[in-house]
Amino acid sequence: MAVLTQQQLSKLAKTFEDRTPEELIHWAAETFGNRLAALSAMQQSGSVVAHMISRLKLDIPILFVDTGVMFQETLETRDRIAQEYGLSVRTLTPKLSMQEQTEKYGVLYLSAEGQKMCCHMRKVEPLLEIKGEYDAFLGSLRRADGGRRGDCPILAIDVEMNTVRINPLANFTDEQMDAYLKEHHVIVNPLHAQGFSTIGCNRCTTPVLPGEPKRAGRWRHLGPWSQYCGINPTDIDDGSSTAIELSADLVDRILGQKTDYII
Ligand code: SF4
Repeated sequence: MAVLTQQQLSKLAKTFEDRTPEELIHWAAETFGNRLAALSAMQQSGSVVAHMISRLKLDIPILFVDTGVMFQETLETRDRIAQEYGLSVRTLTPKLSMQEQTEKYGVLYLSAEGQKMCCHMRKVEPLLEIKGEYDAFLGSLRRADGGRRGDCPILAIDVEMNTVRINPLANFTDEQMDAYLKEHHVIVNPLHAQGFSTIGCNRCTTPVLPGEPKRAGRWRHLGPWSQYCGINPTDIDDGSSTAIELSADLVDRILGQKTDYII
């Protein structure tokens, strides 16, 4: 095994700034092979990544965390993506149903502390359950979404999952996104047309009014300090824990280097 640090990845990512999303997805597929999956919450940026994977004819599974309280429109979008794009969509679920969780802990999402616990149990833990199956995840974070994503990296370390996160759309502007959606008639979650700029659980997501920040509709009942759930570690990391361990071969492939281990 070999250590891969955020510093090494950041250096590499600087050389990736001019690459297109499709080139970044190709790099990820070539580098990680069948140890790569894409994460999608079935929002429009996730649909764009899914469409690109399908158009590039790559065999990359899509992972979707179904918290048990998703909008029907989101579940239908997931099913359409699988059927119409011919992709393998794997749905991950929490251990407890929302009813079982509520009986055990009460209605958690009504307080800031409870929200953290609820998001961890319903979004982060289902991913942790599959820890070790993949070395990298394609995400769909964009700098154009602002807030903590304003400087989201193209490549990041995910210490909790011991994986590399790749954000091929990091540099995709709103204009590029609109143009891509129109040109390719991408399957889009219908909730976007109803004013939802981002989409999560039906308990904690509301539409956004004109002029409001994009993430104003998330956990609106808790105030503006609760806008991220923790499923994307780059939203919450303080940058202090920034190394993972992968096979030496894979670290060489990621960094584009060859190491002679015979002494
Ligand atoms: S978004 Fe709300 S309902 Fe969904 S997991 Fe987080 S706190 Fe729970």
